Amino acid sequence: MSYLAFALEMLGNMFKPPVTTDYPIKPRTPVEGDRGKVVIDISKCIFCGSCQRNCPADAITVNRAKGTWEINPFSCVQCRGCVDNCPKKCLSMDPMYTAPATEKANILVQGTPPPIPQRPVVAKPPVAKPAVAAEASAPVVPVKAAEPKIEAPAVKAETPVAAEVPSKE
Ligand code: SF4
Ligand code: SF4
Repeated sequence: MSYLAFALEMLGNMFKPPVTTDYPIKPRTPVEGDRGKVVIDISKCIFCGSCQRNCPADAITVNRAKGTWEINPFSCVQCRGCVDNCPKKCLSMDPMYTAPATEKANILVQGTPPPIPQRPVVAKPPVAKPAVAAEASAPVVPVKAAEPKIEAPAVKAETPVAAEVPSKE
């Protein structure tokens, strides 16, 4: 760039408005495709926890017992995972970014969890046992095995020994 072209560019910029904005004093206008921040319609939420389980940044906490849905907007990476996995379609992306803050704080939304549906108790009809099964279930009496006969060993008849009588001689 020659000195003349540089001087003309500089003079022209002196009379043009700045290309930057006074953010955060002047809010930025979202552009097409901005994901912005996650918002919830708590009246539709059933506190299933699917959004919490599908958040790669651990930014969402769902507490069904207390009926609370909580998000850490400073951990959220705007991936849309929670929005796409919500079975009730109560989450959406607001194209406006999270408002600037001096302290990092979670956004807690209080709702009312729906009652857990109770399954009706259905009594089971008695099941008739088949005959074979009845036989099979009869008590089994153990049959005593015949004891082996133990024969006494034959006793040899001892031949009486003649007692020696001392001679009188
Ligand atoms: S996935 Fe949807 S319905 Fe389930 S807890 Fe999250 S916001 Fe609620
Ligand atoms: S947009 Fe992504 S990072 Fe943000 S809360 Fe949802 S799942 Fe988590």
